[in-house]
Amino acid sequence: MAEFSLQLNDDQLQIQQWVHDFAANVVRPAAEEWDEREEFPWPVVEEAAKIGLYGMDFMAQASIGDPTGLTLPIAMEELFWGDAGIGLSIFGSGLAAAGIAGNGTPEQVAEWAPQCYGTADDVKLGAFCVSEPDAGSDVSSLRTKAVYDEAKDEWVLNGTKAWITNGGIADVHVVVASVDPELKSRGQASFVIPPGTPGLSMGQKYKKHGIKASHTSEVVLDDCRVPGSCLLGGKEKLDEKLARARERLNNPDAGASTGKQPAMATFESTRPAVAAMAVGIARAAYEYSLEYAKERRAFGKAIIENQSIAFMLANMCMQVDAARLLLWRAAWLSRNGKYENAEGSMSKLYAGRTAVWVTERAIQILGGYGYTREYPVERWHRDAKIMDIFEGTEQIQELVIARAISGIRIE
Ligand SMILES: Cc1cc2nc3c(=O)[nH]c(=O)nc-3n(C[C@H](O)[C@H](O)[C@H](O)COP(=O)(O)OP(=O)(O)OC[C@H]3O[C@@H](n4cnc5c(N)ncnc54)[C@H](O)[C@@H]3O)c2cc1C
Repeated sequence: MAEFSLQLNDDQLQIQQWVHDFAANVVRPAAEEWDEREEFPWPVVEEAAKIGLYGMDFMAQASIGDPTGLTLPIAMEELFWGDAGIGLSIFGSGLAAAGIAGNGTPEQVAEWAPQCYGTADDVKLGAFCVSEPDAGSDVSSLRTKAVYDEAKDEWVLNGTKAWITNGGIADVHVVVASVDPELKSRGQASFVIPPGTPGLSMGQKYKKHGIKASHTSEVVLDDCRVPGSCLLGGKEKLDEKLARARERLNNPDAGASTGKQPAMATFESTRPAVAAMAVGIARAAYEYSLEYAKERRAFGKAIIENQSIAFMLANMCMQVDAARLLLWRAAWLSRNGKYENAEGSMSKLYAGRTAVWVTERAIQILGGYGYTREYPVERWHRDAKIMDIFEGTEQIQELVIARAISGIRIE
């Protein structure tokens, strides 16, 4: 087990500086353009792939290869300090790779996770598809169905997925579907949909409030057939899981737990990552408004000389630091096998709220200029709000924390 330390090691300091340089020199200068265009920022992602920031090797080095668990959050904070829409375009494929790593066999992970990224010369994308128009927070009520065609050893998927990052433009889609609706979330399984599979198409592309450079779409599955080998974890494991779940349904006191459900297992492992995104946005807004407050003059002095502005900045700084500390604790616990869910949820909830509050205060400090698109703080405020919504809303994180601390199934 790695020691928990606030002192980053040499490798981490190097990675932090490397990502910061990319964020400052490439990402931030491109942010406004891609926000306005509302298009996937291919040239920036390709540039990230060329320097090795976008790719399976970096993700493996920064996550599995780091016993402290802090390297990936540090890198993400820097990138999202540059821009959240572009940051999510670079890190969005990681959600699909995490879905594969969390549910697949070692062979499936080796085959499919790298295909979520491609190579520096041939960049590919991954998408993780859980949410549906009528099932966001309530993942137990997914309607997308997967039916096994035994004669052909194929699965046939039908349904519509909503709000999918990289949906329809990804090469590899990981889809969570119901194989036995009666069992609710215990009757779900994850499938890889290989590139070019007929029956998978992009539905509407959403026009969003923020993170506009990130692509978000519906994904439509219409008699989409995949080989039996695309069921993550394999058929034998699924059959055993379903049998146990049916036994529990008939006799709630019997049998062992069926374990974490596919979508929940992925979200649990990625919640600290969302906290890191939020800390990056919040820090950008805090730093920017601190400098602005020293420069901007009103009533014959710098506005920071007024306590109301200086104290606002003091609180912003404190909250960013507090959010980062919760994040680092969650990331370390997660990597060192002690994570009991609530710490990840706490970090995500607190960092999301911090990002929204700090970016709003930044607009206040910049006054009229802050409200215009001439300055980046209004974009950071729009970008921050998603951190309260995706991968579990504020209210869902509160539910998870409340259940963890009480041991009671609070509704
Ligand atoms: C930009 C963007 C990108 C996304 N990317 C992905 C992706 O890549 N893959 C994916 O699968 N999904 C993705 N999502 C979907 C996202 O995870 C869902 O939007 C989110 O989980 C909330 O679900 P919902 O929108 O259906 O809200 P709802 O579940 O309808 O919630 C509406 C409101 O009710 C509250 N609420 C719901 N249930 C409870 C409860 N039990 N107790 C208290 N309050 C409750 C919620 O907190 C919220 O305030 C993305 C969404 C967006 C906007």
